[in-house]
Amino acid sequence: MTVKHVFIRDVAPRDGFQIEPNLVPTDLKVHVINALGAAGVPGIEATSFVHPKAVPQMADAEEVMKQIRRYPSTRYSVLVPNLRGAQRALATGPDQLNLVVSASESHNRANLNRGTFETLAEHKAVAELSLKAGIPVQGGIATSFGCPFEGRIPIERVLTVVERYVEIGVTGIGLADTTGMANPIQVRRLVSAVKDRWPDLDVHLHFHNTRGMGLANVYAGFLEGVTHFDASLGGIGGCPFAPGATGNICTEDTVHMFSEMGLETGIDLDGLIQLSRRMEKALGHKLPGQVMKAGKTMDLHPLPPGISR
Ligand code: ZN
Repeated sequence: MTVKHVFIRDVAPRDGFQIEPNLVPTDLKVHVINALGAAGVPGIEATSFVHPKAVPQMADAEEVMKQIRRYPSTRYSVLVPNLRGAQRALATGPDQLNLVVSASESHNRANLNRGTFETLAEHKAVAELSLKAGIPVQGGIATSFGCPFEGRIPIERVLTVVERYVEIGVTGIGLADTTGMANPIQVRRLVSAVKDRWPDLDVHLHFHNTRGMGLANVYAGFLEGVTHFDASLGGIGGCPFAPGATGNICTEDTVHMFSEMGLETGIDLDGLIQLSRRMEKALGHKLPGQVMKAGKTMDLHPLPPGISR
């Protein structure tokens, strides 16, 4: 394999914070986003322009975008659910808009109260608006690997959604395993089906570690040539009061894995680990990240007294 570099986008400020049980102060969000930028994280999903009533945690989206320090080597993307969200988002100068629709009809109805293709019709208008403003758009597909209501989603169904996104001019797509139902073989199958049909399309993978398969799925995607992955600092996103609602794969665990494999992410891993530990204290509950607890593989321990090598 000739790939040497992997692109990690941290989604903690959006996917992570939106599910925190207590309101996360804007200051803390800004601190985390600035520290991620300072650690060289190349992509950050900074916030979401959803309706404040739907997701109160994201009500300060404009404020967050205004207050953060923008590092030139980091791409700051934002999630937008609809045209109104896109108008709000574009006024804050993001580097990219991220759209999301569920491959599963019932999941999309449960979330957005309408069907997958109705949502995609509005996304077309969003893409037009954004592309006219010179801002690229990524088409995210939730429940690409499974739906909590419908179970497995047929590959053909996901490909139909990808096709629609390609028609409306997205620059890449994101395949999301929203509730952690994917397994590594399935990841290889879906990614290779997408790449067979659209060899030049950027494919981004978004996994949740709900059932402990997150990093195995990352590696499966990597074996199919994917180099863009979402992850969340400390693995946040798991609501401590809602069993089963677990977070994204953990950013520093993902960075650590790739670095152990000899791949570059351009990210200061020690800085990330320190940031995760600080964030755990600030949020006031345990985070699922593992490297923040165990240390790096090569953080060796002194031999017990009296034992020599
Ligand atoms: Zn997610």
